[in-house]
Order: sequence, then C-alpha cells, then structure tokens
Amino acid sequence: MKTSGVSRTAINNGGPISRSQNQATHLMQIAGNKCKVCERNIVLSTEGKFCAHCGTFVHLACEAQGNCDVCGQPFQQYVTPDADPMGEAILPPGLRAAKSGGPIFAAGLMLLLAFLALIVYYAIMEALSHGH
Ligand SMILES: [Zn+2]
Ligand SMILES: [Zn+2]
Repeated sequence: MKTSGVSRTAINNGGPISRSQNQATHLMQIAGNKCKVCERNIVLSTEGKFCAHCGTFVHLACEAQGNCDVCGQPFQQYVTPDADPMGEAILPPGLRAAKSGGPIFAAGLMLLLAFLALIVYYAIMEALSHGH
C-alpha cells in the first residue's frame, strides 16, 4: 500500500500568517541594547529587562530592583514563548529545509570532493605521461 498522499495534507500554503503578529512585535527587543548599569551590550533577551516607559535596558544581574530607577516604572522582562505553537511558526522555513537537506548536502559535497580528486589525479597522470 502506498501512503505518499498523506504528506500533501500536512503542507498548508496560504495559511493565515498575520494571525497573531502584533503579539510578537508588542514585546520590545531587549537583545542588542546597551545595559544602563554596566554599559555593555545585552546579548540575550532572556538575560535582560527593560523599562517600557523611558526605554532603559539593564541586565537582570546588574539591576536587582524590580522598578526602573529613572522613572520608577516596573521593569518588563522578556517572556520566552515556551510551549507556544507560535514558536514553530516563527522558525523560518529555510531553516527547517536545511535541517532535512543537511545529509543530502553533505553527500553532494563528498561527491564534489571525489570529483575534484579525480581531476587532480588525471592531471598528475597527464603530466607524468608527457614528462619524458
Ligand atoms: Zn549590565
Ligand atoms: Zn523608566
């Protein structure tokens, strides 16, 4: 029995992409901003927090207080989208394709290297035969 038609139902192009987009853009990007306390960049969103009121970014480790010392508003932390179906939607399709295409790409690279080795081998043989 052939079940090749099953995968066709899984691929759903033209789905509602913008269904909950403003939920993701609502959160300010913490990563890449400078910490007000140590003046170093915050690499990961999870290791920092920010004040939405005055735009102050700090490391969690640098600022132990829950409130911004500039304007007194509570800091907001990056919320990890754990166990959220949206997490999979954020993943670019190219990344998923590369995951499954990895072994095929490696095999292609091996073939290319073997081909190059063959060319080099024939080049050497050619040079030797004309070496007299
Ligand atoms: Zn810091
Ligand atoms: Zn503030």
